[in-house]
Amino acid sequence: MNQESFNAFKMAQSQFDKVAEILELDTGTRELLRNPIREYHFSIPIRLDDGTVKVFRGFRVQHNDARGPGKGGIRFHPQETIDTVRALAMWMTWKCSVVNIPLGGGKGGVICDPHNLTDREQEQICRGWVRQISQDVGPLIDVPAPDVMTNAQHMLWMLDEFEVIHGAKFPGFITGKPVGMGGSLGRTEATGYGVVYTIREALKELKINPEYTRASVQGFGNVAHYAIELYQQLGGKVICVSCWDQADKTSYSFKKEDGIDLNALLNITDQFGGIQKDKASDLGYEILDGEAWIEQDVDILIPAAIENQITCDNVHKISDKVKIIAEGANGPTTPEADTEIEKRKIFNIPDFLANAGGVVCSYFEQVQSNMNYFWEKDEVLEKLDIKMTSAFKAVSDLAKKKNLYMRDAAYVIAINRVAQACKDRGWA
Ligand code: GLU
Repeated sequence: MNQESFNAFKMAQSQFDKVAEILELDTGTRELLRNPIREYHFSIPIRLDDGTVKVFRGFRVQHNDARGPGKGGIRFHPQETIDTVRALAMWMTWKCSVVNIPLGGGKGGVICDPHNLTDREQEQICRGWVRQISQDVGPLIDVPAPDVMTNAQHMLWMLDEFEVIHGAKFPGFITGKPVGMGGSLGRTEATGYGVVYTIREALKELKINPEYTRASVQGFGNVAHYAIELYQQLGGKVICVSCWDQADKTSYSFKKEDGIDLNALLNITDQFGGIQKDKASDLGYEILDGEAWIEQDVDILIPAAIENQITCDNVHKISDKVKIIAEGANGPTTPEADTEIEKRKIFNIPDFLANAGGVVCSYFEQVQSNMNYFWEKDEVLEKLDIKMTSAFKAVSDLAKKKNLYMRDAAYVIAINRVAQACKDRGWA
């Protein structure tokens, strides 16, 4: 499946249809769950720093809120499409369900490239996004969060605009806020650490000591950083990372057989978070093409960038040594590639389970905000570990019991809970 024909929403629907068959869902429930309940499309006019006005396109999709208010991030991406946002909103519903938190699924986006926008322009986009949708989001309706190319600062601008419009403080409107401004300790680490909690459990099941394992990672953003950090603390060795190069508009892989030094690489990233090639080369890294991360002789692959990365064009490059694929990104594997991975009996930890740590911590942020009492970081991470580990175990137990692929087992649990909530409410 190439970039042009890739449609994330079709992929999400085909994953859903497969499991709807297994669960023998009735037609009404299928129709309800394979489409979003509500979606909003709007224009955000912004005065740029040069005085001209530019109009950006914004979206919010609420896929399902039978189990609680919608929940999910807002992406800033130049290639954003409504179908990608729809898919991501649907995956959020399953993500919140598989880890059993009382939230539904939503996602938002703005077609823009933050690399080319000043802080002031980005602030205007954040405030403009909230102004367009301020009546249809909120603590009891739909709660946004950071995602690709948005961070705690963006969340604070959005919160501020929401509170100005509604004339009161609403810390529960948005999560991923800065610590000290209603944010939770551990939120920044949560997604990456969560990925590694699930890897640790998978390794236990496969009876492999993490100290004897090696991994290759795609991406060098927030999820990748913290996944690498915790995996290295478990004793594993990351030998390759790939990341986007803004100047060359392509990605490169950086390889070191005896293990990458995370801090050294973080010290040589440019303003866009890309690793500088010349400096990496001076530090003894081999600079390879962007796809080299996938063909390394490692035990674990961690795609932690964006969707549509493991496809029928490159799945055959995955080494026979690979035992686990832990999907840090949302939707990194296309259905065709997934069939191949299933056939090869590689232990797959599907995206909406592996990367659920972020939204679990967002839920903890809401709980702490409601109590106005904030936990220490250790407490947050301990609770996160318990939640991720028990969700992982429930999925892998079901996979073993019913002889299901991990992704299907995760879907069975997640979809079943949402379908039941819809039924109990009398929606389907
Ligand atoms: N954007 C993150 C995700 O895809 C976190 C969502 C949230 O915290 O609501 O899971």
